[in-house]
Amino acid sequence: KIAVFWFRRDLRLHDNAGLYRALKSDYPVIPLFIFDRHILDHIEDKNDSRLTFIYNAILQIQKELKTSGSDILVHYGFPVDIWKKLSEEYAIAEVYTNSDYEPYATDRDNEVAQIIQKKNGIFKTYKDQVIFEKNEILNQKNMPYTVFTAYSRAWKSKCNRFYLSSYPTEKYFDNLYKWQAPDFPSLEEMGFRKSDYNFPSSVVPAELLQRYKKERDFPAMESTSRIGIHLRFGTVSIRELAREAEENSLVYLSELIWRDFYQQILWNFPFVGTGKAFRAAYDRIKWRYDKEDFRKWCEGKTGYPLVDAGMRQLNEIGFMHNRLRMITASFLSKHLLIDWRLGEAYFADKLLDYDLAANNGGWQWAAGSGTDAAPYFRIFNPEAQAKRFDAKGEYVKRWVPEIGTDAYPEPIVDHRFARDRCLRAYKEALDQK
Ligand code: FAD
Repeated sequence: KIAVFWFRRDLRLHDNAGLYRALKSDYPVIPLFIFDRHILDHIEDKNDSRLTFIYNAILQIQKELKTSGSDILVHYGFPVDIWKKLSEEYAIAEVYTNSDYEPYATDRDNEVAQIIQKKNGIFKTYKDQVIFEKNEILNQKNMPYTVFTAYSRAWKSKCNRFYLSSYPTEKYFDNLYKWQAPDFPSLEEMGFRKSDYNFPSSVVPAELLQRYKKERDFPAMESTSRIGIHLRFGTVSIRELAREAEENSLVYLSELIWRDFYQQILWNFPFVGTGKAFRAAYDRIKWRYDKEDFRKWCEGKTGYPLVDAGMRQLNEIGFMHNRLRMITASFLSKHLLIDWRLGEAYFADKLLDYDLAANNGGWQWAAGSGTDAAPYFRIFNPEAQAKRFDAKGEYVKRWVPEIGTDAYPEPIVDHRFARDRCLRAYKEALDQK
């Protein structure tokens, strides 16, 4: 009999909670990864760099496993089909995984668990990608927090060494199944092209964290960690990162708490992940669906330089600075009054660090419909934002080289007009009983 450890968004061997438990089980462990066609079949851009990132991470894991005489089994297909086959091929006593809190993932795991149980196996999941999950942090009424400040306070008072210490997986590598796994398909065979994107490092220098509080809000300084993609796919451990943050920057730690916050929102209120506003009244807003305006926003041609710079940064490198994510999202949902879900989906396609919980949380915050949202009548003024956060226009010039020439478009909409239109539409929806 064997145990299987199924990698998903935890693509590393070190400090991996589920893998650690698998290695301490009574069975030799086969590591597994599945390129999931439920996800891949919906990716239109065959150059999507995220696939290369995942592929490289799998190759790295394979390389490390081979030095212990083991290997990784990699499949391409639909998880349920693959698990049905695996449970015929192998005597699987236990399957170990780390929890994934997205609605699709929880449904998938429930189905796979049934397949395993039918053969008298056990399907186990562990907390790995966050410090606190699900309902570990509740308020005095035993309800999930929906306001960040209170959540963060409770998070900090609960957090201690126990929650931040690493799982020493490497001590138990002897328990890996010793074998050579069958070859697996290349990226090209799965329909994707290899990207030569220069991915950010998974190491966050202490020195960057020490400057973070002062510099993080100024996009031209590029002073944030760009660790999002590593957190998304688990190529770094959140426990290690949180320890580093604790030592060097409490403001940075607070950003990691935001990440936990939105993960628990998604788990406790899964409807937010299926297109519904956190505050139902906001689904009464009569959004515009103007294709031309939406296209201009996507392409960074709104005539608002800071908005355009943000969108072009996203289009060109798959990353956008947090301040710009707030400004561009607010511009789409408030200035253009376009359904925030269209913007959410656009970000999901483009962001290398795309994460359903954080992206949805960010979009609902910007549209005003989310937890912790700023009051709807607070509308970012893109020009005032530019003065404050890009006073010398350095960030704008980097991404919008034609700024100041005739080639640069006129503003798509007048600020005052847009503001009034937004206030009217929001008020009308929210005043209804
Ligand atoms: P740093 O400033 O170095 O922060 C470190 C890490 O903390 C980030 O990588 C991230 O994991 C976490 N973090 C920071 N801010 C937030 C936040 N507000 N919410 C949740 N986690 C946070 N973040 C994503 O990881 N994926 C997304 O798809 C995503 N979409 C967003 C959409 C909108 C409209 C908005 C307003 C924000 C979104 N964010 C998202 C949050 C934030 O903008 C990014 O995490 C951050 O810009 C990533 O850059 P960084 O790694 O350099 O961040």
